[in-house]
Amino acid sequence: LKTLKNKRIAVLGLGVSGLGTVRFLHAHKLAPVLIDSRQQVPTQLWLDSYVPHLEQRFGPLNDADLTSFDLILIGPGLALSTPEVQQAIAAGVEVIGDVELFARINTKPVLAVTGSNGKSTVVSLLAKVLERGGLQIGLGGNIGTAVLDLLALDADAYVLELSSFQLETTSSLAAKSACILNLCEDHMDRYQDMGGYIDAKQRIYQGCELAVFNSEDADTAPLQSNSAERISFALEQGDYHIMMHQGQAYFAFRQQPILPCASSLLPGSHNRLNVLAVMAMCHAFAFDAGVYERALQEFPGLDHRCQYVDTLNGVRYFNDSKATNVGATIAAINGFADEPGRLILIAGGDAKGADLTPLQEPLLNQVAELICLGKDGGAIAALKPGSHLVGDMAEAVRCAKACARDGDIVLLAPACASLDMYVNYMVRGNDFAQQVHEGEA
Ligand code: ADP
Repeated sequence: LKTLKNKRIAVLGLGVSGLGTVRFLHAHKLAPVLIDSRQQVPTQLWLDSYVPHLEQRFGPLNDADLTSFDLILIGPGLALSTPEVQQAIAAGVEVIGDVELFARINTKPVLAVTGSNGKSTVVSLLAKVLERGGLQIGLGGNIGTAVLDLLALDADAYVLELSSFQLETTSSLAAKSACILNLCEDHMDRYQDMGGYIDAKQRIYQGCELAVFNSEDADTAPLQSNSAERISFALEQGDYHIMMHQGQAYFAFRQQPILPCASSLLPGSHNRLNVLAVMAMCHAFAFDAGVYERALQEFPGLDHRCQYVDTLNGVRYFNDSKATNVGATIAAINGFADEPGRLILIAGGDAKGADLTPLQEPLLNQVAELICLGKDGGAIAALKPGSHLVGDMAEAVRCAKACARDGDIVLLAPACASLDMYVNYMVRGNDFAQQVHEGEA
């Protein structure tokens, strides 16, 4: 922190993490310049109320003179490749994210998780397990609390959910354990190709003690040059895996059963993987099975992730609005594969430039009726003959109700971001749930 004292500092991007950065710097008597490419930022009220003395440069970035700073703390909403940011880097300005600043200051162990899907579920369960194991945990990062806000907590360890955007600007994390859960195409509107996205995710392993990876998803494995200890998880071929024991499926470590899978309340085989990842992340703590059992019993899963909504006229409705990419939707469809009844899927929204073709096989083989909406709804509907294209969620749910028979499942799993139609995925999920109940007694 002392090294920041006489530096000219800017906070670039004033979303949730940008605000955390401002709060932190302000608390340490530092006065950054606040910069955002938007004229009006969502955190304006807070800034005007608590730090009105800090200079604000809002609007086109080329007016913000980024080259005039020593250090820019950049938020995850802005790409490093932004021309004005590149110019600043070329002029010798140091550009880092809030996670990097956190890592340089923090002295407590960090357990860090990234991946295309399941991050929030895994970090939430991981924090619960560690708490049941007797530790005070600070949980933050991409899941809500900005990492710099965590430093004020009296925690024994920190559990961080990190996005590829946050990792791009982080190099000193040196986590106690770090994990890439899985990798599928996402955010192709911000990366030139899948290679750039994978490289960003791989940064989570830099300097870590234990690298936890998915042995059935090759790109999640740390690079050969990384000397960290390695532990893998996978349904079959992992150090942590699923095995049959006394006629039941068990979570297991190298053929030693730990706990019956039935102890977990989470649906679908993708969630079994998530539990295995949590166990692998805790490998060094050597918790007994009771710790995992208690945590699992207290964890029904997060809202908008394959969340049960209701049963109406014998039809079960599930909200997986957080399925904002192809991989998550395929996981959700597979998760219902063993259920009786037909699957009716509502999908569509903004596909963020992703290749949608991996959806075709599950849509053709496992989905009875496909109902599509939103910006890329037409492209998804084109993958399956006889699909329905509708204008909004109300129409989608009416269509689903008209198609559904007793015993069927209606699933909202859009494979797309919500931003073409909604403020965020939560509003979309709530709209779905509301439409499900519309007109019902
Ligand atoms: P993230 O924080 O990575 O977005 P979430 O836990 O919020 O992850 O879940 C996002 C979506 O991914 C949800 O639709 C969820 O059902 C699905 N999902 C959760 N775990 C996995 C997994 N291991 N593999 C694929 N999809 C998953």
